[in-house]
Amino acid sequence: MRTPAPLLAVALLCVTPLAQAAANCTVKLAGDDRMQFDRSSLTVSASCPKVIIQLVHTGKLPAQVMGHNVVVSATGDVQALAMAGIKAGPADHYAPKGDARVLAVTPVIGGGATTSATLAGGKLKPGGDYTFFCSFPGHSAIMKGRLIVTR
Ligand code: ZN
Repeated sequence: MRTPAPLLAVALLCVTPLAQAAANCTVKLAGDDRMQFDRSSLTVSASCPKVIIQLVHTGKLPAQVMGHNVVVSATGDVQALAMAGIKAGPADHYAPKGDARVLAVTPVIGGGATTSATLAGGKLKPGGDYTFFCSFPGHSAIMKGRLIVTR
């Protein structure tokens, strides 16, 4: 029997507002050897004392070749931070150290590894324009998505 896809989609849309009412304090993201994140958006709540972003690298390539991390910033800062991150280099996880525009950053990991970043929910403005991206050189153009912040 075939899955009635259109009906399922409608059902999911109807459920979404309810799902968003719950506080999302821990979100999960995966990166792979094809230089892709598995999510194009993540939803977190500004009411969380701690927002935890977990990253798992589901590939096999080492961090020097296909390293991934997660940087969270205002969407308008992504381009500048990606450039500054390349200058910062691998020792600083490709993120400028002590830069207030970096709201969260995880270490760079290779295939099979897991990492996470924590930030205070209060640092995020509900409805604000935020982006999560991988700052490994050359990755941010593709490996990025929207961080949606609810109350
Ligand atoms: Zn990457």
